[in-house]
Amino acid sequence: MSQTHFKMLIGGQQVDALSGRTYASQNPATGEAWAILPDADAADADRAVRAAHDAFRSPAWRGLTATARGKLLRRLGDLVAQHGEKLAELETRDNGKLIRETRGQLAYLPEFFHYAGGLADKLEGSTLPIDKADMFAFTVPEPLGVVAAIIPWNSPLYLTAIKLAPALAAGNTIVVKPSEHASASILRFAALAREAGFPDGVVNVVTGFGAGAGTALTSHPLVRRVAFTGGPSTARHVIRATADNFAKLSLELGGKSANIVFDDADLEGAVNGAVAGVYAASGQSCVAGSRLLVQAGIYDRFVAALKERMARIAIGDPLDPASDMGPMATEQQLGIVESMVERAREQGAQVLAGGQRPAGRAGWFYEPTLIAAETPTLDIVQNEVFGPVAAIMRFETEAEALELANGTEYALAAGIWTRDMARGHRFARDVHAGIVWVNTYRAVSAMAPIGGYGASGYGREGGIHAVLDYTELKTVWVNLSEQPMGDPFVMR
Ligand code: NAD
Repeated sequence: MSQTHFKMLIGGQQVDALSGRTYASQNPATGEAWAILPDADAADADRAVRAAHDAFRSPAWRGLTATARGKLLRRLGDLVAQHGEKLAELETRDNGKLIRETRGQLAYLPEFFHYAGGLADKLEGSTLPIDKADMFAFTVPEPLGVVAAIIPWNSPLYLTAIKLAPALAAGNTIVVKPSEHASASILRFAALAREAGFPDGVVNVVTGFGAGAGTALTSHPLVRRVAFTGGPSTARHVIRATADNFAKLSLELGGKSANIVFDDADLEGAVNGAVAGVYAASGQSCVAGSRLLVQAGIYDRFVAALKERMARIAIGDPLDPASDMGPMATEQQLGIVESMVERAREQGAQVLAGGQRPAGRAGWFYEPTLIAAETPTLDIVQNEVFGPVAAIMRFETEAEALELANGTEYALAAGIWTRDMARGHRFARDVHAGIVWVNTYRAVSAMAPIGGYGASGYGREGGIHAVLDYTELKTVWVNLSEQPMGDPFVMR
């Protein structure tokens, strides 16, 4: 099979790694190597950060009005819309995510650029009603400088857009490091950023591994802001790396999100919500609703209806629009899923459906899996699988449901299924999660913040606050009096 050779984008140039080293990326549906990518190390990361730093200080970028920056972002959004189909195909080939999902994400992606572009010239400071005579004080939101964006493999372009759009709207420049498993679509996207007219060096992409390019970027002395999406153990490395450069940091980590079904829920809607939560994207979603908490009165009917729906899930080629579930993105991830299900069996949990690879398929597929786990301390209840595996538990009362829902170190998302809106709101208020969906799941918008608490990370992406999070506030004091400054030993 012929392989496509990709290059990085640094300072407006398409380049290989300085060392000349490359690595291969596999197609998860076949296991075959299909792309060759530069294996960047610290020297390449340094080159990219310096290019971004130069661009940040250049009149070509600093001299642009915020309105002009906004227009560039909107043009980029239009280009993404024009090339959406090609980008979606590329991404599916690279990370094995269902084409229906990548098409859907690509169709929505322009909104991130349009939304952030619209905000670019609306980032206002304020005049302060200062309690000092003859003083005028005001604040100005300023860009930070070079942003390093570290991206995982599950939704490369989506997770790049949600960082890059607000970062550039605020006037920063950026170096993106995609996952070593899914870089191709981001490299194509970077070429569109050039086409949109962003000055050279404003958008850079460095491919490679965490230990090389990733560490070098996050600890680089010229990086002022790190936006990380990935797993908690990698996040700990990133936190330590930013101890060196004091870069401002946001962490979007995983979750063990609870989907809570009350007796009065619409059964069909709740079953679809459960499937959307944990089997869509083969469970490789940070917000996967991988814990199903179901009230006793509906439990048996819910399990039967869910198993019936699961049996109709079509596992297949992610490029085929008829498929419902594609493979795991990496062989290693498939191994993790298998060993976590095995561990659940060993700990006495009962596999109600799935629990194995589908027969007769090459590639890294795994069946949609449902595990009855009555003990909240089991590993399968506490730890993120990042695969199509749901742990299901029964509860009696709302208080018990809340205790179970809040019973992991993660706190990213929660779904609540009930016809009682007072209960829906009450639970939404009390549940410990950064995103709560009532009678829906996996709804996203450029306007809606995403992020968690605890082991799910900190900082929010999406919405107005995300743009402000790529700025720092400067306070300016002006003495309006005609008097020269007096006693230097007292605070004004
Ligand atoms: P990962 O943590 O292994 O890798 C993420 C990125 O970090 C990759 O680009 C990797 O090369 C890089 N990296 C690895 N080591 C590094 C280091 N020492 N320094 C700097 N960068 C380093 O995660 P993954 O396996 O690619 O993705 C799956 C994880 O991401 C899951 O835990 C999932 O829940 C999480 N995730 C979270 C969200 C969210 O928004 N909360 C979204 C998607 C994925």
